[in-house]
Formats: sequence, structure tokens, C-alpha cells
Amino acid sequence: MAATSDSEKQMVIEEVRRFVDREVIPVARELEHDDIYPVALIEKLKRLGIFGVTIPEEYGGLGLDFVTYASIIEELSRGWMSLSGIVNTHLLVAYMIAAYGTQEQRERFLPVMAEGDRRAGLCLSEASGGSDVQAIQMTAMREGDDYILNGSKLWVTNAINGSIFAVLARTDVQAKPAHRGMSIFLVEKEAPGLSAGRRFEKLGYKGVETAELIFEAVRVPAANLLGGREGEGFKHAMSGLEVGRINVAARAVGVAQAAFNEAIRYAQQRSSFGKPIAQHQAIQMKLADMATHIEAARLLVQKAAQQKDRGARSDLETSMAKLFASEMCQQVTLEAMRIHGGFGYTKEFNVERYYRDAPLMLVGEGTSEVQRLVIARQLLQKYAIK
Ligand SMILES: Cc1cc2nc3c(=O)[nH]c(=O)nc-3n(C[C@H](O)[C@H](O)[C@H](O)COP(=O)(O)OP(=O)(O)OC[C@H]3O[C@@H](n4cnc5c(N)ncnc54)[C@H](O)[C@@H]3O)c2cc1C
Repeated sequence: MAATSDSEKQMVIEEVRRFVDREVIPVARELEHDDIYPVALIEKLKRLGIFGVTIPEEYGGLGLDFVTYASIIEELSRGWMSLSGIVNTHLLVAYMIAAYGTQEQRERFLPVMAEGDRRAGLCLSEASGGSDVQAIQMTAMREGDDYILNGSKLWVTNAINGSIFAVLARTDVQAKPAHRGMSIFLVEKEAPGLSAGRRFEKLGYKGVETAELIFEAVRVPAANLLGGREGEGFKHAMSGLEVGRINVAARAVGVAQAAFNEAIRYAQQRSSFGKPIAQHQAIQMKLADMATHIEAARLLVQKAAQQKDRGARSDLETSMAKLFASEMCQQVTLEAMRIHGGFGYTKEFNVERYYRDAPLMLVGEGTSEVQRLVIARQLLQKYAIK
């Protein structure tokens, strides 16, 4: 379905909302507790077009803007944050291909990605560093019409169930600064020499796999060098991370909203000292702060998404949104748990899941400290004394 008018975009968001209420929320707790990959939900997400939601229509996607995308991610996360994680690096990679790929790469990868059968993963982080992307060790050396990739990537979301990986590697190990010698390669799962290594057990963010990918002399055709030119990978990755930060910030809003919804309901059902706890001012203060902070984060996410939709550099806006929303989510989920008293600490209520999912947002797509560095760098340029 092509959705371009505001009312059509709203219809897509409403459809996702209904899907989350009817199909995600009833099963999320059990799937999460059992750490099960949500195969059936993914089939439904495919039918809704979610894996192509920001892929241009000419390549089989819905061609929606990032503002709408953020609302969709918020809705999915309200049901189960892990679903947004499966979508995140897939659409981040799709964005990099659409924005920076060659025409041949767009035609080869985007239509199959839009269908959702072949989902993508992003391979930036390594054991040597996640925050310090320039410290990566993976190399890609030219050999005839191919590149040979050697190294390993840690923390790859979609590592097992994904089929296409955008891999940042050093094509010029002498380059100074190092980022000038980095390039991104589109590597398909079937490539000989590519294998999965260790898989992480996590506090939350369950159901979706986070694993190591090992590249042993993986031969990749030069036609899979993103954009066809060496040395541009770091720039492409940073631009892609802006899309990832919109996703993570929107996720944080969705999880916080879910926690708030349960807290305000519980506060009206649970009584102490002869009245519902919602009638105690101390609880009202919490609820008021929670709702206000959620709304502030949502507005920051929208502003960041609007900036990205304009095609403008948006590292300042996306980092502010991601920083504020993820820290807010951590606080709101804790407050929701406290409002639930002892029950909040049990697996009988969803608030314990929100509380365990929240810290991922403080780390994924760059930690809060890294967001502050990005923000400060931009501010010091903007307010530089002449
Ligand atoms: C569940 C999960 C899924 C992930 N999925 C992916 C994925 O799909 N693809 C991918 O490429 N990566 C992925 N990551 C990796 C993630 O992006 C990194 O974990 C993150 O960027 C932090 O890197 P690090 O773990 O190496 O921590 P480090 O960089 O070692 O940081 C450790 C601590 O030092 C702080 N720190 C580092 N440098 C500075 C500095 N200059 N100033 C102040 N403080 C600093 C950090 O904020 C942090 O608190 C995932 C991580 C997790 C946990």
C-alpha cells in the first residue's frame, strides 16, 4: 500500500496499534520469558509491510517518512521492545543502501529486504570497541574483482536470523585518521567463511539474538562495496546511526508509555490506608512527572525525525532525542515498578520486563556518554566564539 497523505500515514500507525493490542501484547510476556524468536509475529510484520516501511516505493517499500516510522516503532515497543530491535538494523541498512548505494545495489537488495524474508544486520562494533568505532580491526583487502574480509564483529543484532550484513571494515590500514580508510560491504549470509560465534545471554531484550559474526577470508565481490567507492564507510555508518537513534529513542518512548499505562491503572486498583494509592499525592506526583517526561521525549523524537526527513545532518537532534528518551525510560520504568510495590518485582506483571528492557536503550546505537560527546561537539561548533 502506498501511503503518502497524513491520513494514510495515520491509518498505518492505527493498523500497527491494533496489531500490537490484539497480537503482540497477549503473547509478549511468554515469548520474552522463554527467550523465543517470534517467528509468527515476524510473518505478520511482513504482511503489514513493516520491513519495508521506510524503503522507497519504487523498490517495493511503503516509502514512509521517519516521523511516521518513529510512531510505528513506539507502538511496536509498547507491545514488545524486541520487535523494534529486529526492525531497527534492517531498516538502518536499507536506509544506507537507499541513500548511498549504487543503483545496482538498490535494485538488488531493497526489494527483497522490503518483503522481510531477507532481513539485515549491522556490523560495526568489535571486541576492540563499540564507542570507539575507529578502533575496529576488521580488514577488507582488494584481490582482483573481490575483497577479502577478515576479523570478527561482536554484538550483531539479527546475526542468526538475518541474511544481509552491512560490515564496516578497514580498506586502508595506513589511513590517518583511521575513519578515512573505512568502507562498508554488503555481505550475504551464505558467503563461505562467514560463521556465527558466541551468542549472548542478556538481562532483557530477549527473543532477538545478539551474537558474534566471524569472517575468515570471506570473499565479497567489489560490487558489494556500498556506494562503490572506498573510504566512505564511516560517513555512511554515522548517517545510518542517525536512523538507528530515532528507532532507539522511539523504542524508549514506547516502553515508557507501556510502563506508565500499567502504573496508572494499578494505582487506581490498589488501595492503601483506606483509599486507592492514586489518591495519595506522592503517587500523583510520580504519575505527573512520568507522563510529562514521556511527552517531552516524544516531542524530541519527532523533532529529530523531522530533521532526518529533511535530508539534513541530524546527529545533534537524534543524539538529544536518544539521550533524553533512553534516560527517561530508565526512570519511568523504575517508577512504574515502585508504584506496583512488591508485585512490580515479580514476573506476574509486565513492569519487570520494561525495567529489564530499558537499560539496552542506554547502550544500543551509542551509549549516553557518547550521545553527550556528539551533542557537545555540535554545540561547541554552533556557539564557538569568533
Ligand atoms: C543487546 C545489544 C545489541 C547490540 N547490537 C549491535 C548491532 O547490531 N551492531 C553493532 O555494531 N553493535 C551493536 N551493539 C553494540 C553497542 O553499540 C555497543 O555495546 C556500544 O556502542 C558500547 O560499546 P562497548 O560495549 O564496546 O562499550 P565501550 O565503548 O567499551 O564503553 C564502556 C563504557 O565507557 C564509556 N565510554 C567509552 N568511551 C567514552 C568516552 N570517550 N567518554 C566517556 N565515556 C566513554 C561508555 O559510555 C561506557 O559506559 C549492541 C549492544 C548490545 C548490548
